[in-house]
Amino acid sequence: MSLIRSLGYLRVEATDIDAWRAFGVKVLGMVEGRGPDRSALYLRMDDLPARIVVVPGERDRLAASGWELADPTAFGRLVSALEEAGVAVKTAGGDELADRRVAQMVSVDDPSGNRLEFYCGAALDSRPALGAYGTRFVTGDQGMGHVVLPAFDDAASLRFWVDVLGFRLRDSMLLIPETIGLPPGDRPLWMRFLGCGPRHHSVALAPIPAPSGLIHLMTETATIDDVGLAMDRCAKNKAPMISTLGRHANDHMISFYVRTPSGFDIEYGTGGLTVDDATWVARQTTAHSVWGHRFAAGAGH
Ligand code: FE
Repeated sequence: MSLIRSLGYLRVEATDIDAWRAFGVKVLGMVEGRGPDRSALYLRMDDLPARIVVVPGERDRLAASGWELADPTAFGRLVSALEEAGVAVKTAGGDELADRRVAQMVSVDDPSGNRLEFYCGAALDSRPALGAYGTRFVTGDQGMGHVVLPAFDDAASLRFWVDVLGFRLRDSMLLIPETIGLPPGDRPLWMRFLGCGPRHHSVALAPIPAPSGLIHLMTETATIDDVGLAMDRCAKNKAPMISTLGRHANDHMISFYVRTPSGFDIEYGTGGLTVDDATWVARQTTAHSVWGHRFAAGAGH
């Protein structure tokens, strides 16, 4: 089992906070929270004070993904493993800890330059996260969802994410270069789906260029009605849906994709698969979807 329990939060740097507020609350059905940075937007999905923190910036990009550890013991063991592997580890100071409302935190860059934050001791928010649309997100021990991050060196990525961080390979998929906007090549392009808890995958690594640093974030809701209502809100608020509804082949998620104000996508789904590492066998998936998921031209999926 990985020392890392789940995907805890995303920190997004954005040029238009108001657009994000409207998108997060009115389209995604998240709840605006409060936090230490008055200029930031805090979006809640559950009893954490924020799952998506949007900070004003010069660019639209994923600043970091946050990964939760169970306790200080697990945290200390992960830091030791990172240092033994020769990874440059930056320990968070008081200001950063207060900003993220966690007890301990370190940050590292993965082999593709994706910034990761590892933390334990997150503060809870006792105010219920009830939005206007009654959306219920599936979080808990499955974390906030999954991220698909750009990664261009398959062997180095697997060494880091599996051997050092302890993620488990759950599935692999071979990508055809021409379908993701790359020139035809002779080396295989693997997309890797990795898990650290019961969620089928908490991260996928894909050799797909992403100017914002994130290909997509998946958030899961309790029911298909939550997904359908979100599709209606996309239409009403003119949020650019970039795929039809579909069901993924590997994690069974019924979902659609919508573009965020920061240029990356949200996969909004329900019915995702949970797995047990004691019995799970990592195989090769040869189809994105069982049905649906027709993407708009140039959507990059
Ligand atoms: Fe996904």
